[in-house]
Amino acid sequence: MAITCITFDLDDTLWESGSVLANAEAKLYEWIEHACPDIAHTHSYEALVAHRNAHYASIPEIRHDLTRARRLWLESLLQEWGYGSGLAETGFRVFWEHRNTVTLFDDVTRVLGTLGQRYAIGAITNGNADVHHIGIGHHFDFVVTPAEAGAAKPDSAIFECALNAAGASPESVVHVGDDPMRDVAGAAALGLRTVWMNPEGRPWPKEARPDAEIRTLDALPSTIDAWS
Ligand SMILES: [Mg+2]
Repeated sequence: MAITCITFDLDDTLWESGSVLANAEAKLYEWIEHACPDIAHTHSYEALVAHRNAHYASIPEIRHDLTRARRLWLESLLQEWGYGSGLAETGFRVFWEHRNTVTLFDDVTRVLGTLGQRYAIGAITNGNADVHHIGIGHHFDFVVTPAEAGAAKPDSAIFECALNAAGASPESVVHVGDDPMRDVAGAAALGLRTVWMNPEGRPWPKEARPDAEIRTLDALPSTIDAWS
């Protein structure tokens, strides 16, 4: 069956995310030091991360939606310390702005532009990156998040949401992502073709292999053309 749609993971597929998330956490902590000093006096950065993780563990039904979970955690933290919960949204925006300040991999805009001429382009992300805020939203026909799917990758529900958005059958969609479990195994379980984005050349860790492996995005168009 002809390929009609390409879906992309975002973090670590279109940009490196580790330093971005670490910086966003650090900026949020700086904001807490300034806006909520009582919390910072009694909680180190590490203690607040532990506090957040404990809160997430207490809301398992929401945890797949990282945006909502983080908002709820901040509201609960600020209320606990007597700060108005309205302040939580300001804190969330500090995190979100920095979390969406990314450096795209070299080939991203060119490859999205090339593929977008021939295929529908979608994003399937577990995180709270916003392609529109980042400035590449015009390349995407749809974006699917755990908030609307009710589950995160590798759950089939989020890939089914993407198939609905694309109006496509699994065999005509290729999913591209860096995570062997969430991206490759998750998409393959529903019958999508899979491309493993592996910039660091790591060994494949699982049994069922991806349909293709790339180290840079510029290898993607020829990989997909070979299937079309
Ligand atoms: Mg990723």
